[in-house]
Amino acid sequence: MTMPEAPQTDVPSEPSSDTQRRERIRLRNLRELARQAAAAAATQASQAAASAGGRRWTRRQWAHASLAATAGALLLAIVPGFNTAVDVPRSARLTTLSLALPAQSEVVVPASQGTDWTIVTVEKGQTLGSIFDGFGIPAATMHRLLEHPGAREALTRLRPGAQLGFAFGPAGADGRRGDLQMLRYDRGETQRVKLALEGDQVVETVVERPIEVRTAVVSGKVGRSLFHSARKLGLSGSTINTLTDEIFQYDIDFNTDVAASDRFSVVVEQVYREGELLRTGNVLAAVFTAKGKPFTAFRFEHEGKAEYYNEEGRPLKKSFIRMPIQYARLSSRFGSRRHPVTGNVRQHKGVDYAARTGTPIMAAGDGRVAFKGWRGGYGNTVILDHGRGYTTLYAHMSGFGNIRQGQRVSQGTVIGRVGSTGLSTGPHLHYEFRINGVHRNPLQHTMPEPDPLKGPALAAFRAQTGPALARIRTVEDIIYAQVPSADEDTRVAAAGSGAVTRARARG
Ligand SMILES: [Zn+2]
Repeated sequence: MTMPEAPQTDVPSEPSSDTQRRERIRLRNLRELARQAAAAAATQASQAAASAGGRRWTRRQWAHASLAATAGALLLAIVPGFNTAVDVPRSARLTTLSLALPAQSEVVVPASQGTDWTIVTVEKGQTLGSIFDGFGIPAATMHRLLEHPGAREALTRLRPGAQLGFAFGPAGADGRRGDLQMLRYDRGETQRVKLALEGDQVVETVVERPIEVRTAVVSGKVGRSLFHSARKLGLSGSTINTLTDEIFQYDIDFNTDVAASDRFSVVVEQVYREGELLRTGNVLAAVFTAKGKPFTAFRFEHEGKAEYYNEEGRPLKKSFIRMPIQYARLSSRFGSRRHPVTGNVRQHKGVDYAARTGTPIMAAGDGRVAFKGWRGGYGNTVILDHGRGYTTLYAHMSGFGNIRQGQRVSQGTVIGRVGSTGLSTGPHLHYEFRINGVHRNPLQHTMPEPDPLKGPALAAFRAQTGPALARIRTVEDIIYAQVPSADEDTRVAAAGSGAVTRARARG
């Protein structure tokens, strides 16, 4: 994993009173802005937080930031110490405008070089041709631009949300729009291309738009809905799913174990461009307080694989998942019963889960496909060998996953789908768990713990995660200790229109 190193120490800054005055004004402006509009305020807050850069924030500054955050309704803490380099581009003007006017699809933005850009945000179903038509630009001009190397690829596959910039010459005496002089579009995340029509030539200029990865701690309370609250704080849907379905899936049942007052702190990588949040990356660390106790997770790369570990360096991932199927009902337990088809009383050597035909069946643990095919009354069957004498069997499948015999599969891989093949009265999964060939009750047997990190790996893990955990605790301290508890819920509940949300975190 690329967890940043230990927090940087303070970068020397001039202690001049000028600097201090500027800082005071900046903070005051920050608060003023925060009151004005949620969108603008939150954008500024994140910029201001970032401009504090490599310096360590004092508690006071944190308090100021959280004041702004309260007004801007944003519980986001940028953690300066986590970052290696902080270089904040100040040219966020265009970004701010487009954020403030999200409903408008055409905005005239005066740029620094005196070019008046008319920005068009591509809507669903719009083509380059229809946009050019809308401006009354001759088709010949569009074709000239498209003939420029690289332009066709970028411009004929415009996605909704993409932005195009048009610069026109002076309007005619009759008030008609001037001729198109420049077209601007984005190539990937990091390049902005300008095509200027100069005589019969097309001149290309490429502006690099550096991307910056910041590490932030996002902290909040579950409130009425974890998903809702976390989305409001700017975590993407996929980040939230990572927390619930991957990191904490073995320890916390998010349907029953979580209360409104439970809280979470997540250290995530956030990708910024020109001060705007572009998307959210990996969850580097997370603390979830549920059932009155904190569950901690750290992303750590070991033997080429990134996994989540607890504070002690033990993998959070268990050797076996409890149920190899989601959203199913336990319909028959392990033990003696009358067989529903043959009528004989005999041992039921597994457990049955009733589920709809086609429901995905997952590998209960990492293993090798020992058998895939038809096996008498079992119908379509898969047997996995997990090593150390453990095997699992999955029967009555309607079809197989994209697996072949002998292949290694990892836990959670879809190996087949629920069906009713073989001796079966209805769609269900028959699941068997064997240790050294002996059938065991998968619901009762204590699963073997995965091996914890040892030796140098554990030392590296401790070196990386120690500072991260300390940082989370500091942030939680500041966020939760300095405000009366009554306000906390309000802040979380009101966290509706922060910059992060507006910038549409994608992940
Ligand atoms: Zn069964």
